[in-house]
Amino acid sequence: MNLAHPTIIAACIAALAVPALPANAQKLPDSPVRARAISLLGDERESILLGRLEPGRGYRLRISLLSQSSPAEGRVEARVGDGATLIQDSADRDVYHLETRFAPETRGPIRLHLTAAGGIDSGYQVRVEWQAEAEPRMARVEYIPSPNQNDRSRAAKLNAIVVHATVTPTTEATVDWFLTPKSQVSAHYVVGRDGRIVQMVDDTARAWHAGVSELEGVKGVNDFSVGIEIVNLNDGKDPYTDAQYDAVAAIIRHIRDQYDVPDSRIVSHEFVARPPGRKSDPKGFDFPRLLRLARNPQ
Ligand SMILES: [Zn+2]
Repeated sequence: MNLAHPTIIAACIAALAVPALPANAQKLPDSPVRARAISLLGDERESILLGRLEPGRGYRLRISLLSQSSPAEGRVEARVGDGATLIQDSADRDVYHLETRFAPETRGPIRLHLTAAGGIDSGYQVRVEWQAEAEPRMARVEYIPSPNQNDRSRAAKLNAIVVHATVTPTTEATVDWFLTPKSQVSAHYVVGRDGRIVQMVDDTARAWHAGVSELEGVKGVNDFSVGIEIVNLNDGKDPYTDAQYDAVAAIIRHIRDQYDVPDSRIVSHEFVARPPGRKSDPKGFDFPRLLRLARNPQ
């Protein structure tokens, strides 16, 4: 992930009225937004605990000046952790909202420090929002991009997971097939017998795994799902390994860090394929075991 060194933000804000959101304000991604409102007096310093954030993960931070009581030129500076403060151009009076990204380097609690300029007759209302950025790839997992993918439709929200069996006997042969343009198929993840995970499509993109399909009355399951291919012959005899159950559960936890996927929407390819009976995979797979492991890793 390309993140500029985090740490820093600052606002110099001069405003009397509550400003409207600028037209080009960036839409925040889907993960939960945490927010705090805070009152500041001039020459006062306040800290907000952002919590125990995940080291190396990207976070987006937005600071909004909601109101200011002093007619004098006001200024609110903000700093994440021990980072230096960046001063924005104080001549720019349109900066009422400040957005920045940062990636904590350590696991300890991270604080945001706010300082306001002016005397004690200056009062500011500030709103702080922060949120983990979408993480389209699983950490510490091999990534081999498949050409067989496209964008999800704009309205689609990722809220389902489809589990498959490859029929193809090895990880290598499966990956090769998903790398072949003429196959016109892919999945987000391939899980080998030894638990090795290969990611081939970003979570945010649309992999081609489910074909003609429907879930809870909505057609085109590729649009709103993540596809996981487990290397298995799908003959009902070839056993799924413990390492595969653990790996698929880990993928589900990674997806659930960012998206709301209920147990009822973690389904087999057989369940969503249309017409019914078109697919039988993953035959013999123990879904209750998977769902337990996804909640309580061993
Ligand atoms: Zn399948």
